[in-house]
Amino acid sequence: MCEPVIEIESLSYRYPDGTDALRGVDLQAESGAKVGLVGPNGAGKSTLLLCLDGFLAADGRASVRGLSVSKANAKAIRSHVGLVFQNPDDQLFMPRLFDDVAFGPINQQLDPPQVRERVAEALADVGLTGMDDRAPHHLSMGQKRNAAIATVLAMKPDLLLLDEPSANLDPRSRRHLIDLLTGMSITMLIASHDLDMIVQLCDRVALLDAGRIVADGATADILSDESLMDRHGLEVPAVLASRT
Ligand code: ADP
Repeated sequence: MCEPVIEIESLSYRYPDGTDALRGVDLQAESGAKVGLVGPNGAGKSTLLLCLDGFLAADGRASVRGLSVSKANAKAIRSHVGLVFQNPDDQLFMPRLFDDVAFGPINQQLDPPQVRERVAEALADVGLTGMDDRAPHHLSMGQKRNAAIATVLAMKPDLLLLDEPSANLDPRSRRHLIDLLTGMSITMLIASHDLDMIVQLCDRVALLDAGRIVADGATADILSDESLMDRHGLEVPAVLASRT
């Protein structure tokens, strides 16, 4: 069996206003797995990603490659885990793309030549070579999404957490994104309502509703289960419905 990258046991999170967003989540993912995280609005998907990245301090146990997600390990966790926010404008805040992508490696205390190498590599990975001096807020939505992914790839994370990565992309940018993610061997947890994309990218899916994992298994089995999907406010994606 492959080494687990994500190990989550009995994870719960309550927002300060008393909203129970996660209620005892258990989830594991092996190295190299691409796991889809699906569920209706408000299920707790974004909260789970924020807890795994150490942004929110949850109760229970969560670890990434054996490193416990805790306040004490916050810096190390940020280095191991790359969270790509739903809105790239939350991730890109520097006047030049180079500086946004260099931000993580600089925080990892790499020396300037290593930082430049990381930036060049990450921009090449997402097809933005030569755009170093562009202002991130002038990029197209598809380019912004790729730039946001580059900011985390530059840190060489063990785990990529993606929150609605295909949101607001036109069909061609969405296709490029799917091809980009397909070509990466890094372990991923991908929260999305774009179930056609999840079918293409993920062999495995965890279905979250009201803060609990209600199903976890092969993507085709879970997403083609009409009654399960219906009970949790989802629809069988067209690509699977047409096969039945
Ligand atoms: P999803 O990503 O699946 O749509 P979220 O993780 O955003 O779900 O939300 C889970 C639950 O937590 C929802 O009930 C939502 O209203 C609540 N929630 C999200 N963010 C906050 C917040 N900052 N304060 C209070 N409640 C929140």
